[in-house]
Amino acid sequence: MSVIGETASGSLHRVVPIDALVIVPFGGFPIPVAQALAAELAARGVTTRLDAPVPLPQASYSRTRGQYRAESLLTLVSGRGARHVLALTERDLFAGDLNFVFGIASPGGACVVSTARLAAGADDTLFRARLVKEAVHELGHTLGLAHCPEPSCVMYFSNTLTDTDRKSDAYCQRCVARLQARHR
Ligand SMILES: [Zn+2]
Ligand SMILES: [Zn+2]
Repeated sequence: MSVIGETASGSLHRVVPIDALVIVPFGGFPIPVAQALAAELAARGVTTRLDAPVPLPQASYSRTRGQYRAESLLTLVSGRGARHVLALTERDLFAGDLNFVFGIASPGGACVVSTARLAAGADDTLFRARLVKEAVHELGHTLGLAHCPEPSCVMYFSNTLTDTDRKSDAYCQRCVARLQARHR
């Protein structure tokens, strides 16, 4: 277990307390982007393994919506030889009543992050910063965290990219305390 709060700057904590994470790119996802994300997560104390790409299943695609079903992709990658799995797709996702989702996660397990909407108005640096935030957010859900009312906390719910850009890529004091309580 990583030490939580080790690289704390101010009241925000960048360390993600996951020992081993499998990153699964879905078909078509740019591998250099997955590698850059793996490096960002390594800097947060997460040891990652990048798996070979998994083809996007036709059955998960809604032709009427032009989007993939987030839950369906989440089920597909759950439990791929590791407790924590982060799957990446460049295709747009929807879930339930939501028009779209940046990502989806199951507590204690896997998560999926979509980059489909992260490139809007962004240069490479901003795009990668957004991806880190969405990944750290979904990983927080896999660790049992809920959404956080603190707008600078990475667990703040992003309804729009403005929300994503405003929040940090780190957990607030309260979320860290919750993580420590859960993973003691
Ligand atoms: Zn969330
Ligand atoms: Zn928080």
